[in-house]
Amino acid sequence: MAVHVEMGPSVYEQGVNRLLESYRAIPPGATVRLAKKTSNLFRRRDPHPHPGLDVSGLGGVLSIDATARTAEVAGMCTYEDLVAATLPHGLAPLVVPQLKTITLGGAVTGLGIESSSFRNGLPHESVTEIDVLTGTGEILTATGSNEHADLFFGFPNSYGTLGYSVRLKIELEPVAPYVELRHLRFTDLDDLVSTMKQIVEKKSFDSTPVDYLDGVVFSADEAYLVLGRQHADDAMLRSDYTGSDIYYRSIRHDRADSPKIDHLTIGDYLWRWDTDWFWCSRAFGAQHPTVRRFWPRRWLRSSVYWKLIALDRRFAIGDRLSARKGLPPGERVVQDIEVPIEATVEFLSWFLDTVPIEPIWLCPLRLREPLPAAADPARPWPLYPLEPGRTYVNVGFWSGVPATPGHPGHTNRLIEKRVADLRGHKSLYSESFYSPDEFATLYGGEHYADLKARYDPRSRLLDLYSKAVRSQ
Ligand SMILES: Cc1cc2nc3c(=O)[nH]c(=O)nc-3n(C[C@H](O)[C@H](O)[C@H](O)COP(=O)(O)OP(=O)(O)OC[C@H]3O[C@@H](n4cnc5c(N)ncnc54)[C@H](O)[C@@H]3O)c2cc1C
Repeated sequence: MAVHVEMGPSVYEQGVNRLLESYRAIPPGATVRLAKKTSNLFRRRDPHPHPGLDVSGLGGVLSIDATARTAEVAGMCTYEDLVAATLPHGLAPLVVPQLKTITLGGAVTGLGIESSSFRNGLPHESVTEIDVLTGTGEILTATGSNEHADLFFGFPNSYGTLGYSVRLKIELEPVAPYVELRHLRFTDLDDLVSTMKQIVEKKSFDSTPVDYLDGVVFSADEAYLVLGRQHADDAMLRSDYTGSDIYYRSIRHDRADSPKIDHLTIGDYLWRWDTDWFWCSRAFGAQHPTVRRFWPRRWLRSSVYWKLIALDRRFAIGDRLSARKGLPPGERVVQDIEVPIEATVEFLSWFLDTVPIEPIWLCPLRLREPLPAAADPARPWPLYPLEPGRTYVNVGFWSGVPATPGHPGHTNRLIEKRVADLRGHKSLYSESFYSPDEFATLYGGEHYADLKARYDPRSRLLDLYSKAVRSQ
């Protein structure tokens, strides 16, 4: 049977009914928000007095069509659950964001990226149809060619301010059971970026296909590209980074003239960054051998660290510990930015000289080709205006620096300015400091105002600036 039903239609319909009932229960003057257990947002959010939307019945995979290579998924389905359902069919979403609890709806409205993005673009580019609960309380189906195509193209980077996705239909791609990793070491960032550029263009390196590509910068003279190739050879010895061994450390080696080779199952490859939240688990001591020995394996995952961060924020634990040592409080610098590949070395050199954070994650991306037929060829996804035909590099850094007294967000503001000067953008999942005008210029403001007037005319949902910059 090509179509595999995962979640019965009546279960899904009940979930939709509960969602609509909860919408109707929110008083007319109150802001409509999600009531959801997990999150990967990193900005502070104001507490709110009213109950949110009940999305408890919208967490599953509805069906997988292995012949058509598509899946229908409820809006709050996590990628962890989706991948668990697709891999037995030898299929995977075209882009699987690295953190297991990121949901389809979250990645499409808040963007996502991974090492397949140089060939598959961003998660929203493999969506073919979305049902959206808009600010008016209706559920509308948006596709790239129907009467709600403006919502379809405007949904990515709207962060739930035009509506919440209830159901998504997405494309899947075939995957092999294993991934061979080649870790190429570079002592010069120019060399690294020019090699990355060649691989993005050719989708191969040394005549070997490259299916996945990302990289890590430890310092200006120690950086790596990680090239992944899918294969089906089960004779290869495979590593396991879900226990005592730590993936990001495994990348490092001394040989600039030859790569280090490693093998993982496809599942372990897709989740390689989740176990230690890239490298951020070290802040909780989880990488210390003694602590790690006693740290339950099931707690080695990003959602657990996220809860620890929430506690740290609530009780200002980090700042209190710093104060005890006579150190100033910290400024959180947790950001993903994108600059054109030609500007990447300039950005990295500036960053390494200015911001004391390492390692740094690199991930190349290009919008998928061809664009959907009805897309604006100059600005297909207007709220996050990447140019078609151009390669960008996502640069991720997730840590903190000493705060600058009297200048809240000093380092974050420097980064925003540098990124804008280099014609880049930054993701909005974390803190932002833009003025309303800067924000509107960078994130499709005029277009957004039209969408907001059409799909949320009574402002039942927050607007993007209030959410992303004012942390409401
Ligand atoms: C440290 C860190 C590193 C990150 N690195 C990456 C990365 O490398 N790759 C990557 O892909 N992403 C990364 N992200 C970003 C992440 O993908 C986005 O924050 C994404 O929006 C989170 O999805 P979520 O499902 O957890 O949504 P939530 O965190 O719950 O919500 C995010 C926003 O989306 C809205 N939203 C949630 N669900 C829906 C829905 N169904 N419909 C409409 N709006 C909705 C919410 O209202 C909220 O404004 C990173 C985030 C952090 C904190």
